[in-house]
Formats: sequence, structure tokens, C-alpha cells
Amino acid sequence: MSSFERVLVVEDEGPIRRALEINLVARGYEVLLAPTGEDALRLAAASHPDVVLLDLGLPGIDGVEVIGGLRGWTNVPIIVVSARDAEPEKVRALDAGADDYVTKPFGMDELLARLRAALRRSTTDEGEEAVVSTESFTIDLADKRVTVGDEHVHLTPTEWRLLEVLVRNRGRLVSQKQLLQEVWGPAYHDETNYLRVYVGNLRRKLEPVPSQPRHLRTEPGMGYRFVVD
Ligand code: CA
Repeated sequence: MSSFERVLVVEDEGPIRRALEINLVARGYEVLLAPTGEDALRLAAASHPDVVLLDLGLPGIDGVEVIGGLRGWTNVPIIVVSARDAEPEKVRALDAGADDYVTKPFGMDELLARLRAALRRSTTDEGEEAVVSTESFTIDLADKRVTVGDEHVHLTPTEWRLLEVLVRNRGRLVSQKQLLQEVWGPAYHDETNYLRVYVGNLRRKLEPVPSQPRHLRTEPGMGYRFVVD
């Protein structure tokens, strides 16, 4: 049974907290409310939510510290909610272990879609299917093969590793730092120009319209996201 999934809402602004509560309850979620980071950590430990919606700007301990506290013991999906102009903060949140983010002011539909996607990823077995197909290309993670139609596409080892990390995290935002560390190594975490070059190569080889990528998407200033459709 997937009904009554439990959402922990961490938000210090009363009206936003209430709006989230009303919308989530109306869609059959069980909602836990925390106005501070301290409350969030206490409630999470006591009630084991299925997903956490976390405002980053909180009084007392801030959102990034809450992520650190949660990641000490749980892999619960964490979706960060933060202001549009707070990019460094969002990057810190992703690096601390957040799974995704939504920008304030958010549309309720977008937020609910992100929530469903996060819950789906945590309940399906982290997508260990070996073959992932989009409308235009197919990736076989076991055989390390990429095909467009029936044509095998040659990728360099670096292009393959980059694609592999994105596909294994499909649907999920992967931060620039995480990609650089996983593909090039820990010393390369600031070399974001590498990402632009290699993602550009992958798009030219795989995307039907490389200048308007459908599957290998850029989240400006943040990272990249592979989406099947
Ligand atoms: Ca706030």
C-alpha cells in the first residue's frame, strides 16, 4: 500500500506551512509539521517520514545542518525549498545530501510532481534496470553500449562515465561537484568547464536537437539531470 505516505514539512513561515499541509492532506498524504530545524530532527527520528520537504532558511539550525543531521542515519529523500537568488545555498544543500530542490515561490503542481518522483525513486529499487531507453537512444549499463536507432554510438571512456552517472541517477539532479568527483576525481571539483564540454559532446552524439536537449538537461549553476522523457 502506497497511500498515507508520510511527508515531513520543515518550514518556519506559518502561511506556507499551512498551504503545504492543506494541499498534501487533500492528496492523501500524512503530514508532519516542523517550524524549526530542531523540531525537524526530533520528528524525523520519532516518526520516520517517507520524504522531507525542507525550507533552507530557518531560525536556529539551518536547512543544510538539518540535512547533515538526517544523513547521519537515513537516506530519506530530501527536497529542498529555497529562494530563487540562493544558488550557493542550494549547491551546499545538494552537496550535503539533498535529493532535489524547488524554488520559491513554487507552483503546487510542480512541488507535488517532485514529491511523487522522489517517493517513486525511493520505493523502486534505485532503478537497477540495466537498459534505459529514451525515444531517441538506448543505454545498456551492463554492456556499456549506447545505440541511436540500430546504430552503435562510440563514446570516449570519460563520456561514458559521465553518462553512466547521470543515467544511474535518472530523474534526479546531480550536482556539478558530484559529477566532477565521480568522473574525474576529488581534485577536480571546481572544473565546471569540463562538464560543459563533455555534456556538449554527449548531446551532439545523442540528442535529436543538441541545442535543445530533452534528456541531458542543464540546471543552471547547479548541475545536470537525465530524464527519460
Ligand atoms: Ca524560511
